Formats: sequence, C-alpha cells, structure tokens
Amino acid sequence: MKRSFDLIVIGAGSGGLAAAKKAASYGASVAIVEGDLVGGTCVIRGCVPKKLLVCGSSLLESFVSAPSYGFDFDNLKIKSETLLANVRKEVQRLNELHENFLSKANVELFKGWGEFKNSNCIAIRNRINGETLNELDGERILIAVGGKPQRPNIEGASLGWTSDDMFLLKSFPKKIAIVGAGYIACEFACILHGLGVEVNQLVRGDRILRGFDFELSSALTEAMISKGIDLRFGENVSSIKGTPGSLIIKTNTGKEFDSNGLLFATGRKPFLEGLKLEQAGIETLENKIKVDSESKTNISNIFAIGDVTDRINLTPVAIDEGRKFADRSYRKSAQKVNYDFVPYAVFSQPEIASVGITEDKAIQSLGKDKIEVYRSIFRPLSKSLPKTGPKCILKLIVDKNNNKVLGCHMIGDNASEIIQMASISLMLGAKKSDFDNTMALHPTIAEEFVTMR
Ligand code: NDP
Repeated sequence: MKRSFDLIVIGAGSGGLAAAKKAASYGASVAIVEGDLVGGTCVIRGCVPKKLLVCGSSLLESFVSAPSYGFDFDNLKIKSETLLANVRKEVQRLNELHENFLSKANVELFKGWGEFKNSNCIAIRNRINGETLNELDGERILIAVGGKPQRPNIEGASLGWTSDDMFLLKSFPKKIAIVGAGYIACEFACILHGLGVEVNQLVRGDRILRGFDFELSSALTEAMISKGIDLRFGENVSSIKGTPGSLIIKTNTGKEFDSNGLLFATGRKPFLEGLKLEQAGIETLENKIKVDSESKTNISNIFAIGDVTDRINLTPVAIDEGRKFADRSYRKSAQKVNYDFVPYAVFSQPEIASVGITEDKAIQSLGKDKIEVYRSIFRPLSKSLPKTGPKCILKLIVDKNNNKVLGCHMIGDNASEIIQMASISLMLGAKKSDFDNTMALHPTIAEEFVTMR
C-alpha cells in the first residue's frame, strides 16, 4: 500500500537527519529514506571516524616528546588493525544510536535507495536486484543525499582507493601515495604518517590547501616535510598498474615508483546518480542541484540541502540548512542560513583553523592599504622542553576603516577549538580594540589573539 507523508527526506546524513527530526518535532509526518548506514558521510566515512584516526595518530607526537618529560617508552608499536577495528565498532554504535534517535523522534526510516517517480512520489529500490521495496507520496520532498569522492579518469584508477575505502581497510599499508592537496589529502597524509605509514603526497600545483591563508599552508607544508612526509609538488599520477597491495605508479614527470596503496583525495561531487531528478523536472547546474536562498529547487514542493547543492560543504552548514528548512516549512519562520563567518578546520597535524576572510582575499577585495595584519609566531610551551615540533601562527586581519576583525586564522595545537570560540566574536562584529580589551588567560596559546599589538 502506498503511504503518504507531509515530508519525505532522501538521505539520512547530518543534514537530512536534522531536518527530519525538526520537522517531526513540529508535528509533521516524516519519512526518511537511506540505502546505506544511517549517519551519512560525516558519521560513517568522514569527520567522526577521521577524527578518531587523528586522535590515534597524534599520539606519536606525544611519544616523541615524552622523553623530554622524563618518560621512557621502549619498543613502541602500532597495530593499525586494532585501531581500524575499534573505529568501525564506534561507527556501528553511532549508526544504531542515530536509528534510535529517529524512532524516538517519530521519523519513519525506509531502507533502500530513493528515486523520483514524479514531483510528489518516491520509489524506494534495492539497487542490487532493482526490486521496488516501497512507494511513498510526500507533500514536500527534501533531497539531502550528500556527495561522493571522485577519481580522475586515468589508466588503472580503480586500483586506487577513495576516502570511503580507507575506513573499510583491515590494516593500513606500509607505503601509500596520496593524490591531492586539499582537506582529505593533508589530513590522511598526517594520519597515516603518524601511524607509521610511508607517505608520498602528489600535489599537482605548487602549494597545498589552495584558498587557505598562505602563511598557514606554508607552515603546514614545512611541518609535514620535516616529519618525513614526501610532498612532491608539480607531480600527478598518470597511470596505476599492478595488483592490489603492489602498485606501480607512473607520474606526469615520467617517474615510476612502487607503493602498497594509493588514495585519491581529488575532490567530491554531488551524489545525483539514481535519483532520476528528470522525472520530477528538477533542474541541476554543473552537476549540482540548483536551489534558492531558502533551499528550494525549481519545483515548488522540492528542496535540497547539504553537499548535493555544493554551497559550503561542511556538516554544521548542512545541519543548519536542514533545521532552517524545517523551521520555515512547519513553523512559518523566515530565518535563513547565515553563511558569513563559517569556521573551518583541517585536522592535519598541526591543525589549521580559520574564520572570516584570508589576507589574500582581503587584499583582493579591499586593497592592501585598507587592511592591517597582526600576527604572532612562536613555539608553544608544550614544545619548549622537547625543543622540536612546529611553531604556532596566529593571525588577525583587520579593516583599517572601522577596526573590525575580518579574519582570524591559526595553525597549532587546538586551533579548531580556539577558532570555534573566536568565530562568535567575529559574528558579533568584534573590533580589534575589543580583542585588545579582553583579558588574557595565561599561559595559553589563545591569549596571543588578545595580546597582539
Ligand atoms: P578539496 O576540494 O579540498 O581538494 C581537492 C584536491 O584535489 C585539490 O588539492 C586539487 O588540486 C586536487 N585535485 C583535483 N582534481 C585532481 C586531479 N585530477 N589530479 C590531481 N589532483 C587533483 O577536496 P577533498 O577531496 O580534500 O575534500 C572534499 C570536501 O570535503 C572539502 O572541500 C570539504 O568541503 C570536505 N571536507 C572537510 C573536512 C573538514 O572540514 N575538516 C575534511 C574532509 C573533507 P588543486 O588545488 O590544484 O585544485
């Protein structure tokens, strides 16, 4: 029997879950459709398991510093199979937790892959045998299917892994090549290096983290190289040969090298396959779903949020888009997502985190003589006994005209935690004088943000 709902959400990732639960809390009848585990990229194969790997991997630096604090560790070993198995267990627990949250919130979960039959009807299929499991009618439909990693179109590309595959490995390889210079490439290069893997990172351009503050990305480059990560600029993979576990990688420079694995960290794209958007007449633009500022598609009862719309592809943004969609649809709220001052972090080792405009962008948009840049570069106290390890850099970009802080950037320990708090002050329009008038908390890294003169 065909069931009808006020809202059908396709995709039980961070954005879809947030929208479904919020809409149900307002009394709407809500179905959510998911073909994979509940939790989406962030919980199942992204932020959460990645951060757990970062926590494990970053212990190496503590062990390296430990002798200067008097510790003596002999015969340290890492078993990546234990770490990966424990991470998978935690992911499974979170998946079950999210399923329970849905049932407590009165959201009905339909397992299977959703596809449009028309602008009000979703068929749910088993993608393996094509069987139709259910058909649902929805007054409103929300597409929240996220994105998928992409591989370049080169010979042997299927021998390479994507980030999705990394969480399914039983153990990490001895030696890995990583292609790319973005978030995923830099995070995995540091994670794997910390877990004893030999890492070659192929960067097609001349810098990592294009678009980030230049001083921060240069400092990370230096830190990664001094750890022993082989960062190769101007190099890209042109073919992969061999068998899983034993690859021959050829690069654009004509060089060949062997590796036990290769990770493509070459970007993600919206996951539109199989949705049959054309059956509902939904317009796409450059492979993403076109939406207005209220996340509405060209079809008045169909909405889209999160990475499938390719706006700012970060979990908290998708969650906010989902909740605001539910507020507008079922609470008549007029609130829109505030895309200003979205903080972001790269969980590399050391971490990078930023909020607001970078120095380069500020120069481009306002002009060099219209901004002031304050910076503090120092070795944190935690590194003064080991006398090794990267320096911290903290930077403020200030508008000379009105003294407002436009950007706040940092590389160093706990950068993400510090920048999360700094983002409140930027959102409230803090001036440099407000930072200066704030009492320092000593001795901390963050105090440098309020003592820069
Ligand atoms: P990014 O867009 O960050 O980086 C892609 C990288 O791949 C760039 O360095 C790009 O080079 C390179 N690249 C693209 N195509 C090719 C190619 N054909 N050959 C070689 N190199 C190539 O993508 P990621 O995959 O790292 O991450 C995807 C998204 O996931 C991020 O944008 C972010 O939104 C999200 N994410 C967020 C995280 C966080 O918040 N901490 C963590 C992980 C992911 P070039 O610079 O030259 O273009």
